[in-house]
Amino acid sequence: MSNNNINNTIYDISTVQQVLINSPLEGIKMLPLNSTILVKASEWEKCLERINVLCSTKWNKKHKYSGKGLVFGETKKCHRAGQYITNRQLRLAQKDMKACSCTAALKIIQHLDNPNVVTFCQTRAHVNHVPGDWDEVRTLPLPSEAIKIIEDQLKSGSSCRSTRISVLRQIDS
Ligand SMILES: [Zn+2]
Repeated sequence: MSNNNINNTIYDISTVQQVLINSPLEGIKMLPLNSTILVKASEWEKCLERINVLCSTKWNKKHKYSGKGLVFGETKKCHRAGQYITNRQLRLAQKDMKACSCTAALKIIQHLDNPNVVTFCQTRAHVNHVPGDWDEVRTLPLPSEAIKIIEDQLKSGSSCRSTRISVLRQIDS
């Protein structure tokens, strides 16, 4: 990992959005690739949830690893990893799976010598899809705050596109 950028700031639930960069999609953020991010150990799961909301990502557990010097370590894969199923029947039955062979990976590690922080590092970029594309938003669970905002916006006659941008802005603020 010699080419890894290390940022020494320890982020928490109220600051973690600062580490995110703009995605090509308006209103969507993304994790900087190959950058190790430190977050407060007691809030790492909440920080990851927040990152997922702001980046429109979802990570599934791939494998855990243990090693000397680690409290725990795991690599997560994008929820759109895996082979796209071309069989029409399967596709109809499982249309929300939307696997597209994305190889994005997120490494989460807690070191014994620094147990107060957990590190996140996205080691591979998303491929074959752009997180936050309106197409795939429906495959992700939304936080209740977002659902409420969407309901209000749609009731007031907003278009889907402006509703999306506005929801993301409000969650971001
Ligand atoms: Zn992906």
